[in-house]
Amino acid sequence: MARTIEVEISEASFPTRCCRCQQPDPPLVWPVDVRRGIDAIVVRWQIVGEVDVPICERCASRRTWGGRLAIPLLLLFVFGWILAAVALLDGSAPPLVGAVAMAGPVPALLVARFRLRRWVDLHLVGAAGVRLSDDDRFARLQIADDAYAAETLTGHPTP
Ligand SMILES: [Zn+2]
Repeated sequence: MARTIEVEISEASFPTRCCRCQQPDPPLVWPVDVRRGIDAIVVRWQIVGEVDVPICERCASRRTWGGRLAIPLLLLFVFGWILAAVALLDGSAPPLVGAVAMAGPVPALLVARFRLRRWVDLHLVGAAGVRLSDDDRFARLQIADDAYAAETLTGHPTP
């Protein structure tokens, strides 16, 4: 189960394993974005910080491809939803029902836009940024592996 922890960005010390697959001594780090501010499409004001999380080459490659595929897959889902709504309603439903069915994916898309990067990071990197502190020094992170999160906090392997 994922666990939320808070680290000081300049002092963050992660276990020397890939955050995603636990391979020892990974050669890379992945810069996990952690943000604060507003992103409401028309109004956008954000401060973005980065926390370097250890990652192996295979997981880094998966994250790169996952990031590239996420938006097209999301748009495909929305397009499929609209096609399904059109096919199901087939002009026989009242216009209001049709409008609601077709607008259904819009709120989902807005939420997904905010959550997509975090979801991709959590599942493909093993860590996702939740929030940057007001003084930009601390990052709240979600860590997929519980033991990894505990070791990050204590600096010692979990017994
Ligand atoms: Zn890995």
